[in-house]
Amino acid sequence: MIRINQITKSFGAAKALDNVSLTVGRNELVSIIGYSGSGKSTLIRCVAGLESYESGSIATGASSDRGYSGIGMVFSRSNLFPHLTVLQNLTLAPMKVLGMSREEAEEEAEQMLDKVGIWSVKDSYPDCLSSGQRQRAAIARSLMMKPEILLLDEPTSALDPVSTAEVFNVLSALKDQNMTIVLVTHKIDLARAISDRIVFMSNGRIYEQGTPSEIIDNPKEPQTKAFINHCINMVYRIPSSKYDHPELNARIEVFCLRYRLPFSDTYSLQLAVEELLNLIPLDDGVSLVITKSSKGMELEAVLAKGEHPYLSAEYIKDDLSYSILEGLCENIQEYVNESEDTVIRMTIRQNKI
Ligand code: ADP
Ligand code: MG
Repeated sequence: MIRINQITKSFGAAKALDNVSLTVGRNELVSIIGYSGSGKSTLIRCVAGLESYESGSIATGASSDRGYSGIGMVFSRSNLFPHLTVLQNLTLAPMKVLGMSREEAEEEAEQMLDKVGIWSVKDSYPDCLSSGQRQRAAIARSLMMKPEILLLDEPTSALDPVSTAEVFNVLSALKDQNMTIVLVTHKIDLARAISDRIVFMSNGRIYEQGTPSEIIDNPKEPQTKAFINHCINMVYRIPSSKYDHPELNARIEVFCLRYRLPFSDTYSLQLAVEELLNLIPLDDGVSLVITKSSKGMELEAVLAKGEHPYLSAEYIKDDLSYSILEGLCENIQEYVNESEDTVIRMTIRQNKI
């Protein structure tokens, strides 16, 4: 259990935490989201006792026997000792701090590594592991101390999507083992899947909190909405005119399913993408960005700046594609951004059946 009561913390003139209160129950997994600089790290560092604060109080209920606080912390970088094997990294603290025997510590470490799915690399050195394996080893190392509370500060920010999913799976499994977990993350779709509650921080304050569905599907406050919209997108790179059309359609479908978009809107989006790709040159590659916003789905194509505005009457040869696009979308715009790329964006009309 964690009970944070009205804490305030400044760095010089800047308020990093401004009267923050939050309670996290035993067995609860709470994710903290928000722009960088909003105070997320400072908050969990205060809980971990790594940072002092000016006013307020934090009670953790974690028993601090044998010189150990009962709080485990995992950072973006795993901080494993490079000169020790994975197993040695895990057994060091329990032997030194908890006075465990080597046999006992090793047996426990092997179980822990099995739990996070990396038992097979127990005798490897950290440099030989993938970044995802290193991060799972770091989690296993924290667990060796039998913490009642586990705090994780963007544990997957350096990981590829597959390793990220593996780490989230591990966290999801831990949740069912009487652990109090606070996770700072930018991966809001995964946070949505495993969290009991999501807290949105902005400017050192808790701006809005609620169930994943309340915060991600129906945020109430304007700043939360803006942040969620900024996070919920799908980026797809079209390498050339020989792109994999069925795969692109499948990705769009999965993306729309995740946000429970009606099937008719998914189809409109797929069709708009297809017609848009008919109208612009693909040879030098195009990035598609699909964003769910309060207005519906926004579609954006980013490509190298060409000679034409691509959607000008002069350039559009395939009138049919453009007419279809106009029927499916509103606010079609084309402009050149700061990086001298051409950006074409539009909002897909929602089918009101
Ligand atoms: P987040 O984790 O949400 O990105 P942080 O908690 O790291 O945010 O930072 C909150 C604010 O406190 C930021 O304005 C940041 O610049 C400031 N800050 C954080 N740590 C320090 C520090 N050690 N010294 C000075 N300012 C800091
Ligand atoms: Mg941070």
